[in-house]
Amino acid sequence: MIPSDRTPSIVAAGADIEAGRLKIAWAWEHMPVLRQMAAGLQTSRPLAGLRIAISVHVEAKTACLAKTLAQAGAEVALTGCNPLSTQDDVAAALAADGLAVYCRHGVGDDEYREHLRQVLAIKPHLVIDDGGDLAQLLHSSERNQAEDLIGGCEETTTGLVRLRSLEREGRLLYPVIAINDARCKHLFDNRFGTGQSVWTAIMATTNLVVAGKTVVVAGYGMCGKGVALRARGLGARVIVTEIDPVKACEALMEGYDVLPMAEAAPLGDVFVTVTGCRDVMTSEHFVKLKNDAILCNAGHFDVEVNVRQLHETAVWVAQVRPGITAYRQTDGRTIHLLAEGRLVNLAAGDGHPAEIMDMSFALQTAGILYLAREGRNLRPGVHNLPAELDDQVASMLLGILGKKTDQLSAEQTRYLEHWQLD
Ligand code: NAD
Ligand code: SAH
Repeated sequence: MIPSDRTPSIVAAGADIEAGRLKIAWAWEHMPVLRQMAAGLQTSRPLAGLRIAISVHVEAKTACLAKTLAQAGAEVALTGCNPLSTQDDVAAALAADGLAVYCRHGVGDDEYREHLRQVLAIKPHLVIDDGGDLAQLLHSSERNQAEDLIGGCEETTTGLVRLRSLEREGRLLYPVIAINDARCKHLFDNRFGTGQSVWTAIMATTNLVVAGKTVVVAGYGMCGKGVALRARGLGARVIVTEIDPVKACEALMEGYDVLPMAEAAPLGDVFVTVTGCRDVMTSEHFVKLKNDAILCNAGHFDVEVNVRQLHETAVWVAQVRPGITAYRQTDGRTIHLLAEGRLVNLAAGDGHPAEIMDMSFALQTAGILYLAREGRNLRPGVHNLPAELDDQVASMLLGILGKKTDQLSAEQTRYLEHWQLD
């Protein structure tokens, strides 16, 4: 429950609390690892007395994480990490159940930042960030809210890029656990989660066929591999663009074509940027696109497709279907942009499936419990989640699925650990 001296929750007026509760219940049913962890934590309450500020996409799976941490004894304050991914019914359901929630779908920059400040006003002991927005405030205007801070967990690749840059400058104030770098995160969430949810969102938003189309995937990292794999599975021809020669070779060996964006631009029907970089598609490329080309982004920030230049080159702009903006060019071609160039799977969909977020949020829970135990002994810096906690999440899932692995014998362990053969 929210202590009486805290700002009451701020959620959209009139949001359908029952619809939110149903979404949360469905997700919870499909998150068995987190459920198993929560069952143990409810009685031991290892987070009692700790305050946790969370900035993660406010939708049903995140609600399950917030509830798990609250049941483990923590006082939790939640906001989103992207105004377009906030689901108001879920936020309202959580607020009605007594959690401190500050977010509304579609708010502008100022209100979004105000909500981040509101979760930090609890003076957190622990923070969970997806993209580093809380960290940015804790290192600038909200530094005074960091007095009791033990540490934080970061969910995604770009957040870690930002935190490592602070660390390199010697300015990172607290220890951060790199949840994204745990094997049970990037191998599943970034690859299979993004792979599936990006196509779910593109197909639902456009209601068009993928088979037979040429799809250009910009960036062949953990996410790009999943997006390309699922595009091929849906029957598309796939072209990959990269800046890293090794990743480019990997894409070639996987059977995709590899081209620079300037050469891929006239060939593609659908473009998905997922690089973590900026200006991956600019006016240099827009002039070469086919009529009716569809552009979208699945990378962290809305800077991968240069939307400002798209506006500047257009003679007519219109919302032609929810989530689709059409940009008519001077030569009569139309370019379609999905979800305003924000992460398409979250801004125009429910994000990753529940079973994927089950693993990611089991890791977040493990990271928070680890920080609560050990955080005061860790130096400020970016730390890996201990490998045994990563393995534990995988073992829990295997146990739930009724799958077993082989175990090393003593001789096998010795064989693997020694350079000298018997
Ligand atoms: P990654 O580092 O594994 O891969 C990024 C790839 O993009 C690298 O191979 C890099 O060489 C390539 N690249 C960089 N700049 C490029 C450019 N200008 N043109 C072409 N290729 C370029 O990172 P990742 O884990 O795949 O994450 C990528 C982005 O997606 C990040 O911003 C991350 O935060 C975000 N992300 C999104 C979701 C989602 O649900 N949509 C999920 C996880 C991560
Ligand atoms: N702050 C960024 C968000 C980065 S999104 C923004 O501006 O939008 C990338 C992260 O979203 C991934 O690391 C993934 O773990 C998380 N994610 C994907 N689907 C999700 C879901 N359904 N619920 C909560 N988080 C999700």
